[in-house]
Amino acid sequence: MKCCEEENFSHGNLVPYGNIEMSPSAGILNYGQGLFEGLKAYRKEDGCDVLLFRPEQNAQRMKRGAERLCMPSPSVEQFVEAVKQTVLANKHWVPPPGKGSLYIRPLLFGSGPHLGVGPAPEYTFLIYVVPVGNYHKGLLNLVVEDKFHRATPGGTGGIKAVTNYSPVYKVVTQAKAKGFSDVLFLDALTGKNIEEVSACNIFIVKGNVISTPATHGTILPGITRKSIIEIALSFGYQVEERVIPVEDLLEADELFCTGTAVVVTPVTSVTCHNKRVEYKIGVEMVSQKIHVMLTGIQTGRIEDKMGWTVEVD
Ligand code: PMP
Repeated sequence: MKCCEEENFSHGNLVPYGNIEMSPSAGILNYGQGLFEGLKAYRKEDGCDVLLFRPEQNAQRMKRGAERLCMPSPSVEQFVEAVKQTVLANKHWVPPPGKGSLYIRPLLFGSGPHLGVGPAPEYTFLIYVVPVGNYHKGLLNLVVEDKFHRATPGGTGGIKAVTNYSPVYKVVTQAKAKGFSDVLFLDALTGKNIEEVSACNIFIVKGNVISTPATHGTILPGITRKSIIEIALSFGYQVEERVIPVEDLLEADELFCTGTAVVVTPVTSVTCHNKRVEYKIGVEMVSQKIHVMLTGIQTGRIEDKMGWTVEVD
């Protein structure tokens, strides 16, 4: 099989959660040839139906990542069907409305043995699920990281490669030890522009303009980010995807982070070179309006005019 081909991933089966066996020389273990995705299933307000949020977007992102890492990938249809089947089999684990969601973790990795540096001869696509509460640890206080970077131009920052995450453990752990919630990374080329947080995208608000860093391959194109851009436009805001110099943080009215885990979470402060900037928090915030709309659609409370949700039945 040539790398990047769509393999037949349709012969999967449902098995109880447990350990998996792998060769010690598996591509994922030796060379990090692996991708993951993250999405959520919400129980509708009526308590019966379960909704997925834009699962085909995760499928497409996984396909793009597989192409970059020289792996075959499931088709969009196979991916979405596998997610649906897994959620259906675990429907009893989807928390009641308002109490959280079922987090869905698809993984695609080189599971076949290969000693030399190169694509593995076999691949595994698997999905596991876990019920999670609402993230709302509340608010984020970020620290700007000016020494370490999350991604470099031409690297894998724009895909959900498993190897993108452990390189940030050190700085995030150090930041948390100092009382920050997370780290805001700058671009590696100039060190002057904001990119994203370790596992979420960032937006800044100034008047009627909502800006977020343009992705350009070093920032993960978040599905929440994409959805929020569409919601903000529908609300009449001007949305800009652009280079955002770190100085723009000083002028911003409001900052918020977005992602499957954090959904839409306001940032209370950013610390850069020991200088701390604070942001207003309140019900009249732009992020609050967007949060209500996004979560309303995700849980079926607000009519899904965008056609984003998929029922699991
Ligand atoms: N950036 C990074 C680095 C992430 O890991 C995530 C979480 N997937 C996001 C942004 C947000 O992406 P999404 O909205 O698709 O969850």
